[in-house]
Amino acid sequence: MTTLEFTTDRVEPMPAEQREELLSMPGFGSLYSDHMVTARWDAAHGWHDARSRPLAEFSLHPATMAFHYGQTVFEGLKAFWRPDGQRALFRPEDHARRFARSARRMAMPELPEADFVAAVEALLRVDGAWVPRTRGHSFYVRPFMLAAETHLSNRPAEEYLFAVIGSPARPAAGAEPKPIRLWASPEYVRAADGGTGTIKCGGNYGGSYVAQREAVAHGCDQVVWLDARERRYVEEVGGSNLFFVEGDRLVTPPLSGTLLAGITRDSILRLAGRLGIEVAEEPVALDDWERGCRDGRITEVFACGTARAIAPVGHVVTPDRDWPTGPAGPVTRRLLKALLDIQYGETPDEFGWLRLVGTDAQEAPR
Ligand SMILES: *Cc1c(COP(=O)(O)O)cnc(C)c1O
Repeated sequence: MTTLEFTTDRVEPMPAEQREELLSMPGFGSLYSDHMVTARWDAAHGWHDARSRPLAEFSLHPATMAFHYGQTVFEGLKAFWRPDGQRALFRPEDHARRFARSARRMAMPELPEADFVAAVEALLRVDGAWVPRTRGHSFYVRPFMLAAETHLSNRPAEEYLFAVIGSPARPAAGAEPKPIRLWASPEYVRAADGGTGTIKCGGNYGGSYVAQREAVAHGCDQVVWLDARERRYVEEVGGSNLFFVEGDRLVTPPLSGTLLAGITRDSILRLAGRLGIEVAEEPVALDDWERGCRDGRITEVFACGTARAIAPVGHVVTPDRDWPTGPAGPVTRRLLKALLDIQYGETPDEFGWLRLVGTDAQEAPR
């Protein structure tokens, strides 16, 4: 049961021809659909004022608490176009649950899961024409929440703003995805026990960019994060989880309390089980990773997350050594195909991961 009623205020949609032109090369993250969905929370009213409305700037006072104390959380999920004209959201209920968990950890109000899903659906209903029809492309949905109270006190805010925007996205991975290079930072850590590593709050990312810069300076694409205690065990990569193909097993670091429980990670674990691949959640030490690659035990490594689906890892660089971790192999490819086939409706959705959102009568004609 949803508690919020969404009102709709429509903008004149972008002319179809212009939209289709933009959709032919969407890139990632710089193109937005016509509308956004917003809702507000305060102690007196709870969640209220839920609307889909034209995408526009927010007007916020300089003393808005989110600017100063960083109470911001977000999610990222995708919608896919299907040949039958419907759009499919991938595991929105799981994203809703994680969003609520993130809010709880940041002392923010929880948006009921059904309202989160209804908000995402409301955006898809008004902007369904923005879901690219090319296989591989998708519509990236970004729900987020911020402390909207105007006050300089250092305490949880008493007013919040929730919003959902959408951005058409190019293929996450082509048929031959380019392997990425990873930098193991000797200095910086992403998350420690008891911290915020298990949730999607803005500060986790802002705090990681200095290491990301270091990675780029060393010719790498992303950082591979090590545990904060010993700098010994591998945790995750940038905004993705990590998998190793070791012998005939698929191994991923356990949810130790410092890494993000990726929904793609969970999907891969379940798909692998379905494909008859043995899976294990076990700590992986950086040294064992190197040894495993050198002695041929580890044959494939890949990163996974909503934005990129699956990206093979080709190389690891540390300050004093580096090693190749193999090209995209058959297991990586099989899992990527199995995931995409479900998302694009080409195999039955046996896990019940897809939520279909019908087309809107008022949608611009195709
Ligand atoms: C979002 C995210 C992931 C991947 O999660 P998905 O649910 O698969 O998109 C992994 N690690 C971090 C740090 C993230 O922010």
